[in-house]
Amino acid sequence: MSDVVGVLALQGAYEKHVEMLSGLGVESRLVRFARELDDCCALIIPGGESTTMSLLIQKFNLYDILREFAEKKPVMGVCAGAILMAETVDDSRVIPLKIMPITALRNNYGRQVSSFSANLNLKCDDEDSAYAAHFIRAPGLASNNDIVEELASYNNEPVMMRMGLHMALSFHPELTNDDRVHVCWLSGFHPSFQ
Ligand code: GLN
Repeated sequence: MSDVVGVLALQGAYEKHVEMLSGLGVESRLVRFARELDDCCALIIPGGESTTMSLLIQKFNLYDILREFAEKKPVMGVCAGAILMAETVDDSRVIPLKIMPITALRNNYGRQVSSFSANLNLKCDDEDSAYAAHFIRAPGLASNNDIVEELASYNNEPVMMRMGLHMALSFHPELTNDDRVHVCWLSGFHPSFQ
């Protein structure tokens, strides 16, 4: 199996994921066309603007292809990417991919001016140290399905959720030097982390 991780590069903050993966010794490739997914073992849907990304997914005929990919392979959605992974979104301009049974509320933590950092306690590693998470016009995430696990919360609201090998995050793990979130996701499947 290929061990190349795809990073959806239609719009938004995809470059920093490439850098973080490279720092972890993981090969990645930018994905803009369906055929570029063929040799990917997993996919990151980055942060950005979910309404725009949703339009581009339709325009490039990627909707069904991304859903089929997620049935077989792990996906991590960051911020706008988490919104796209949801089952339902509070904005009809976004056509969610329904990869995880979660609800996303856009801009739940305020707009650009209220972007902030907060220390989180991650439930996916043995380290006790706080994880400094960066929230930028971050979505609220919710699920009442038992197959969805909460890996971190902020103000008693889930901000990092996992279902099998999929993960959805309200914050941006690529905007820090702390690679624990990427490692947490990759350790579920990537040959270099087994
Ligand atoms: N607020 C943006 C949206 O709804 C997401 C912001 C982000 O990805 N940092 O699409």
